[in-house]
Amino acid sequence: MHDVAPINPWVALAYLVAGVFFILALRGLSSPASSRRGNRFGMAGMGIAVVTTLVTHELANPIEVIGAIAIGAVIGLVMARKIAMTAMPQLVAAFHSLVGLAAVAVAAAAYLNPGAFGIADEAGQIFTVSRIEMGLGIAIGAITFSGSVIAFLKLNGNMSGAPIILPLRHLINLGTLAAILGLIGYFLTDQSPAVFWTITALSFLIGFLLIIPIGGADMPVVVSMLNSYSGWAAAAMGFTLHNTAMIITGALVGSSGAILSYIMCRAMNRSFISVIAGGFGADDSGGAGGGAKEQRPWKPGSADDAAFLMSQAENVIIVPGYGMAVAQAQHALREMADLLKKEGVNVKYAIHPVAGRMPGHMNVLLAEANVPYDEVFELEDINNEFAQCDVAFVIGANDVTNPAAKTDKSSPIYGMPVLDVEKAKTVLFVKRSMGGVGYAGVDNDVFYMDQTMMLLGDAKKMADDIVKALNGSGH
Ligand code: NDP
Repeated sequence: MHDVAPINPWVALAYLVAGVFFILALRGLSSPASSRRGNRFGMAGMGIAVVTTLVTHELANPIEVIGAIAIGAVIGLVMARKIAMTAMPQLVAAFHSLVGLAAVAVAAAAYLNPGAFGIADEAGQIFTVSRIEMGLGIAIGAITFSGSVIAFLKLNGNMSGAPIILPLRHLINLGTLAAILGLIGYFLTDQSPAVFWTITALSFLIGFLLIIPIGGADMPVVVSMLNSYSGWAAAAMGFTLHNTAMIITGALVGSSGAILSYIMCRAMNRSFISVIAGGFGADDSGGAGGGAKEQRPWKPGSADDAAFLMSQAENVIIVPGYGMAVAQAQHALREMADLLKKEGVNVKYAIHPVAGRMPGHMNVLLAEANVPYDEVFELEDINNEFAQCDVAFVIGANDVTNPAAKTDKSSPIYGMPVLDVEKAKTVLFVKRSMGGVGYAGVDNDVFYMDQTMMLLGDAKKMADDIVKALNGSGH
């Protein structure tokens, strides 16, 4: 056993307070109404943790540390102000990659100079427990880094969202994973650089291999899974650095990310284990049903038609999706709903758990537009109402309404629960063109159904025009 420096009780207390603030932050973030407060708790907790760490450590070069913090803070501030809501998922993926990289950097620094971290004996032999922490930290960190970079490239559109399927990928992945675990075991007996850097390189590789085959509509689960990994990487490094705040924060991020991944898996009808194994959504056929768009007849409609149909309806269900977010149509949409309600129409919103590009995306936007919470329904609470509804108004959603998920086994979204819009008497479908596809890149049979009217145009412009038509004509 090695001696660990006794922890200063004031430091322990400060880290405990920071930990409590982080828990309150998570609590606050669980509802749009309290999310700002949650964010403030998080900021305060992080402030306490950073200041405590700075004042209780002997800093070799305070100017460098403060300079680095200032540069990071400015970058963070500028990005947070500039980032479009729709680009948030890739920003989150980019941030996860940085957490992974930071874990790798810390593990590498500790490996190269274990004496400075108090994790080696006088002969320079790293303690066994620290080797475990370090091995796990660098492996999870590297997987998080390369996996998040691929997730970023896919979400940002630099890489196709379609799955890239390597032959024998399961065998390659399993082999690589077994090699990493075996090497971490071997690292306990031999701390030579070859072992350490091979673990690092293989972990970068497996992160890449795990994420490239994931396509179709499965990205949301990946993002939350990488979020969870980044937490575990930080927690592992917290052990190496003997830093309680890092352990607490890492464990909170790791476990909340794991819970979210689990919830998303359930929503997407995917198995949790196959998510962790990678390439879970893709089938080896390479995702048939992708891309191929047929020339089938479809019915165009105008804002006036939509206004007329909806104002005559008894029940209208609005299905918002990614396109509504891109167009920032939520305010116009609420205005449209208000006018319909004035005419006695019963209006509800149906939210699919992966609509948009991040969990809760639609809820946040609708809350921003002051849509009453009691008009907003989750998939399982509203799905059987489509059969009785007069109009399903789909605005910028696509994959989440695609019946192929129920019927076409070769479709990359097969198995994902979808909103049954095709059961409505009339479907109004707002999108910009017949050529555009959703995230999964597949055609949607609903466009070509007899009861569907395609309203081609930008979501905000279309909603504005419907509002004008409802106001103007007194339908
Ligand atoms: P989709 O990505 O399936 O479809 C978006 C639709 O919006 C397209 O049909 C597009 O067609 C249309 N659109 C785009 N811009 C506009 C605009 N300005 N005005 C009007 N329409 C527009 O969105 P969904 O919300 O239905 O599904 C989400 C998809 O994203 C799922 O596959 C999900 O798995 C995936 N995903 C979800 C994440 C999450 O956490 N929620 C994270 C990552 C991925 P057109 O180009 O013709 O306008």
